[in-house]
Amino acid sequence: MKNFKYLVVGGGIAGTTAAETIRTKDANGSIAIITDEPYPLYSRVILSKPSFLLEKNPKANIWLKTSDWYEKNCIELLNGKSATMLDVKAKTATVGGEIFGYERLLLAVGARARRWDISGADKKGIYYLRTLDEAKEIARAMKTAKRAVVIGSSCVAFEAIENLRSAGIEVAEIMLEKYFWEPMLDEEGGRITEKALTGAGVKIMMQSEVKEVLGGENVEGVITKDGEKIGCDMILCGIGVVFPVEWVKAAGVNVNRGIKVNEYLETSAPDVWAAGDVAEFNDVVLEEQCMAGNWMSAREQGRIAGLNMLASAGGRGAKKEQFKLVSFYTSHGFGLNVAFGGDIRLLPDRTTMGRGSAEAGSHTRLILQNGKIVGVAMVNRIFELGTIVKLIENRTDIYAKQKELADPDFDLKSLL
Ligand SMILES: Cc1cc2nc3c(=O)[nH]c(=O)nc-3n(C[C@H](O)[C@H](O)[C@H](O)COP(=O)(O)OP(=O)(O)OC[C@H]3O[C@@H](n4cnc5c(N)ncnc54)[C@H](O)[C@@H]3O)c2cc1C
Repeated sequence: MKNFKYLVVGGGIAGTTAAETIRTKDANGSIAIITDEPYPLYSRVILSKPSFLLEKNPKANIWLKTSDWYEKNCIELLNGKSATMLDVKAKTATVGGEIFGYERLLLAVGARARRWDISGADKKGIYYLRTLDEAKEIARAMKTAKRAVVIGSSCVAFEAIENLRSAGIEVAEIMLEKYFWEPMLDEEGGRITEKALTGAGVKIMMQSEVKEVLGGENVEGVITKDGEKIGCDMILCGIGVVFPVEWVKAAGVNVNRGIKVNEYLETSAPDVWAAGDVAEFNDVVLEEQCMAGNWMSAREQGRIAGLNMLASAGGRGAKKEQFKLVSFYTSHGFGLNVAFGGDIRLLPDRTTMGRGSAEAGSHTRLILQNGKIVGVAMVNRIFELGTIVKLIENRTDIYAKQKELADPDFDLKSLL
């Protein structure tokens, strides 16, 4: 049995950053990354952008690490291999036919695109967008497709639609929601997005659901529950993600939707950490359990998990640290800038307030709890994102200023 001082499952940004952080302070401890994709670290965020899907900027480098980097840093990259079993007492992980021993383990297994459970979903021409291989298939299909159906109103769907339209493909967007991006944006923000989409020739079908995928071996169209038929030669499904944690749960590690960790990213099992999209962490800024789902958070969690693994191993100068970050991400398309920051869930004890309007073409939705901003979602008001993130970080009480805040011209910086 091969033993590693540090074993990382998942070779995305969280897992790789953890390994890189560990190597900066432990020059000799053995490190391995097991990852089921056949590649070194690449930029997942580029997969839905024109530089990749439309090959608009072939020089935009998707590779964030080369094979040489792993060799140079003595990090064993076991790619194309899946961890399927965990024994937290024996401190082993089963990978294919092999068993690996670990002293410290990081679970950074990310998420997978949710598969469509519908009649005809096994036909050729249905695509999901999470991995490089999936993105390559979409880029290939886009070269010949004339009509596409997009399911769901996620960030990935929004960006993919823009690429499809830029490639001259007719697009019908089918979604369960009442407006685009519900409930992440409010209706004002959703309407701005819809106007931009319909202006670019996208047919949007709200509160609609596909009953069946039509065609023989290949997709030829869909029929909705209302009986409307739409012809297409490709379908892109953006219906959310699932977390690949069954094998972790089977090992007795505390799992909810993702893997539960505290503010140090420690799981319920000794010497096992989790980081990145899969981590359901104790957010020390907002004092709640959260999942993040963005690049900035995954990278920082990887760094913190790496430091904490080092600290537990008595690594040189390594000190146990809390994960503490108000993360945000942006999405661009159809001339719109959309941004989300903090925790945008509409929990029962939260209220919302808006700045701007659909008519003005820009809108910010603030999510408030106990007089403080906990999250933000905005369309075309990205200039105030940094200030709002600071207000969230500082836990600024804005209760007395709510009236002023509703004025889109009120300078938020005055609250800092
Ligand atoms: C198309 C697309 C566009 C995006 N755009 C943005 C953006 O613009 N901005 C932004 O902030 N975020 C964006 N995101 C989200 C961002 O990419 C993720 O938050 C980030 O990649 C999460 O990193 P991670 O390391 O936690 O997980 P992942 O990147 O998912 O990596 C986890 C890895 O672990 C592997 N794995 C899983 N289970 C096992 C197992 N049992 N054994 C071995 N390997 C396993 C997975 O296959 C995967 O390779 C985008 C995501 C997608 C899909």
